[in-house]
Amino acid sequence: MRKKIGVIGGGQLAWMMAQVAPSEDIDILVQTPSPSDSAVNLATKVIFAPINDFMATAKLAKHSDIITFENEFVNLDELQKLADEGVCFYPRLSSLSPLLDKYEQRCFLRNNNFSVPHFREYNSISDFDSFSFPLVLKARRHGYDGQGTIIIHSQGELTDILPKFEDIPLLIEEFIPFERELAIVAARSVKGEIKIYPVVETYQHHQVCRWVIAPALLSADKIKEIEYITEKLLIALDYVGVLAIELFLTKNGEILVNETAPRTHNSGHYTIDACNTSQFALQLQAVTGKPLGNIDLKTSGAVMINLLGYESANSDYLEKRQHIENLGTFVHWYGKSESRIGRKLGHVTVLLTENSPEKTYQTGKLIIEEIESMWYGDKLTVI
Ligand code: ADP
Repeated sequence: MRKKIGVIGGGQLAWMMAQVAPSEDIDILVQTPSPSDSAVNLATKVIFAPINDFMATAKLAKHSDIITFENEFVNLDELQKLADEGVCFYPRLSSLSPLLDKYEQRCFLRNNNFSVPHFREYNSISDFDSFSFPLVLKARRHGYDGQGTIIIHSQGELTDILPKFEDIPLLIEEFIPFERELAIVAARSVKGEIKIYPVVETYQHHQVCRWVIAPALLSADKIKEIEYITEKLLIALDYVGVLAIELFLTKNGEILVNETAPRTHNSGHYTIDACNTSQFALQLQAVTGKPLGNIDLKTSGAVMINLLGYESANSDYLEKRQHIENLGTFVHWYGKSESRIGRKLGHVTVLLTENSPEKTYQTGKLIIEEIESMWYGDKLTVI
């Protein structure tokens, strides 16, 4: 029977999930406060309410077989009341519970023997004693796309910044002078089946992802190590659904877990065009207990470039998008009516067909440069 999946959140992740839902024989319903959200037009039903409004989630659940998440800014204690009444959440609330607060997530990872940067909860100024500059300050909750993550270079900067965060619980962590940032997306189904996409390299500027290269250029040993971390984490969380892990590769070759996101992820957008099954289809398969599809890359690799806002405007940038599409790329435009600096407006995927991993990587880098220069022109320094 056709399943109905309620999604908490109606942004681009829900929109991309709704796009593949018909081919999985699934209807998507969403809960979002904003009529202009990308997924609103594709959902079969929309509950207009804030993400953390659990009464609205109760309504969503009345029309859904399963509830899943595109946004984890929820109130778990309240959702637990619905779970106690029999509402089915995948991922389970118990899997989300150690992840939603960045400090608690770090504790969970450390307690389960994953390597993470040195960190500490902030309560008083003496908590900074075991850190040197630069250090990283993070809002424990509701951070995304670098909002709430600040790199602090000096005592002066710290003194200026702290009063601005007076009522916000914070996490302090060591700054990792990483060699590269990596990410991996994987899924575990209701039946315990696990599928892991290739490890990718990601590039963040000012804490916002600019591009992704799949696969990352890594030794077979490093790939195995990251796959092991992924499988171990999925099992430790008794996880159902798609999960992403962001990692640091340090200069001495160590892999540290930066954070994990309990949902589909920007670093997996390339899978829509480059893999036989996208992360969005895989999420639907995982939560409905279907066998997980073939996730192999269709070509030697792919690059994904985020189209970030570089000005405040109300433009759909149609002409620019068409130029980029004319190169034979896949342009995904999220239909947001307002552009702001750093806002994710869409993304571009380009498939690579080289005959070695090195060549795939090099060509990928050149294509990223070309597309970023078409998109940003001389505005790259603005973001
Ligand atoms: P968000 O949840 O907003 O994505 P992250 O914790 O992932 O926040 O941080 C965003 C980016 O900030 C990372 O991708 C990385 O580039 C940088 N960053 C975060 N933590 C550290 C750290 N400890 N050391 C160095 N860079 C960091």
